[in-house]
Amino acid sequence: MTDNHYRRLPPVNDVLAACPPDAPREPMLAAVREELARLRAAVAQGEAMPLSATDVAGRAYARLQRATQPKLVSVINATGIVLHTNLGRAPMSHDAAQAAKRAAEGYLNLEMSLDTGKRSSRQDAVREWLCRLTGAEAATAVNNNAAATVIALRAICLGKEVVLSRGQLIEIGGSFRIPEIMAVSGAILREVGTTNRTRVSDYERAIGPNTGALLRIHPSNYRIGGFTESVAIADLVALGRKHGVPVMDDIGSGALLDFARFGFRDEPSARDSVTAGADLVWFSGDKLLGGPQAGILVGKKEFIGRIEKDPLMRAFRLDKMTLAALEATLRIYLDSERALREVPLLRMLSIPLNELRHRAEQLAVSMNTIEGVSAVAVADEAFVGGGSLPEEKMPTWVVEVTARIAIPGGSRGSPPFSPEVPLTTVSENVLAARLRRGMPAVVTRTRSGKVVFDVRTLFDHQFDATVGALARAASEPQE
Ligand SMILES: *Cc1c(COP(=O)(O)O)cnc(C)c1O
Repeated sequence: MTDNHYRRLPPVNDVLAACPPDAPREPMLAAVREELARLRAAVAQGEAMPLSATDVAGRAYARLQRATQPKLVSVINATGIVLHTNLGRAPMSHDAAQAAKRAAEGYLNLEMSLDTGKRSSRQDAVREWLCRLTGAEAATAVNNNAAATVIALRAICLGKEVVLSRGQLIEIGGSFRIPEIMAVSGAILREVGTTNRTRVSDYERAIGPNTGALLRIHPSNYRIGGFTESVAIADLVALGRKHGVPVMDDIGSGALLDFARFGFRDEPSARDSVTAGADLVWFSGDKLLGGPQAGILVGKKEFIGRIEKDPLMRAFRLDKMTLAALEATLRIYLDSERALREVPLLRMLSIPLNELRHRAEQLAVSMNTIEGVSAVAVADEAFVGGGSLPEEKMPTWVVEVTARIAIPGGSRGSPPFSPEVPLTTVSENVLAARLRRGMPAVVTRTRSGKVVFDVRTLFDHQFDATVGALARAASEPQE
């Protein structure tokens, strides 16, 4: 009896012959064997399954494809969160992406002066541009802003006290906690003031013979309401000068432009901080700068020099692709009009509201042509950054979507859209999950029964793909 069942499964060679000829030989063979073993087990359980070699080949090939899927795939960001840390933060400009690609595929003068043929510094690629863009006398770059913080504290304040307001003892993204970063760097944290109020006199009282620096950290991801008082960087600089103590500024998001034009309150710019006299300023490359992941440090030559000589520099240095992308991004900023046109992040932040409305209405029209889908364009508000600027909200336009699907009543095989079959609403979480798992993957927001597509973060060329993805997600049979 069992023998009889086994015999229904085709031999390995027949299955292999039925596999696509371009399938890689070894992995295909392994997948066929795995599939046959699985089927044999099913047959042993008493499941009858007459399968042809072509059937088994098809299953094995699908198995092989699933098993070799890339883990990283492009995602359509319909969340409206322009700086979504979990989706890779800022999308890069075309020029930056091209520069990274060229650097990746070939050789480049990463650490060689083409004039002299001698060894040069890889920081030469960005130093001059950073100085021109911020007014600083020196600059360097490392892997991210967390690394910038660690190396700055270590190079300048090892074993010394760093005076910081209690209102700026922040945690960023769940793992960047100032007290821990400080401990790792070897500097000693000296907290002053209270959570909501810190005055110049608080800093002054903390200054002593072992003070290494006065530090300001921009609390980019949280804001204290009510009665607050913090010390402006210029006042900190004046105090530092008076006592001969360096002043350092972690501005976090790293705006090179004035972000007031986008309606952001108190987003410090690197140039403002340098102009105010901060000795060392650092910020992220992939937040408001809209470039690759990097930590950028600008300031006095003496301090940048010490940072570049620190042994950690070797561990924190940028790779060639990132450096190329960062240089390309910075060169775009030499012309701020060009930056507004070409840096995707700036373009997304500056789309006029009436254009967002128009895009949302167009998208809703296309989505409404999908069977069972009802889509409405509405005005909304969205956060600019997930973990990086969650306090900054912007008005936007979204499409709210609900999908209704036929539930086949009774037996499993009844036709999905026959008139007598009742329609039920697919829950927003189910629909959002299907969109995420689709090809292409679409990440949305959800709220009270609706899936929300924010058009601010959709690129023009993604509208059709988004509608297609929704059509597939809405037509998947209900489990
Ligand atoms: C985001 C941020 C950091 C961490 O920067 P990464 O580039 O994510 O390492 C540090 N400090 C401030 C103030 C920030 O906003």
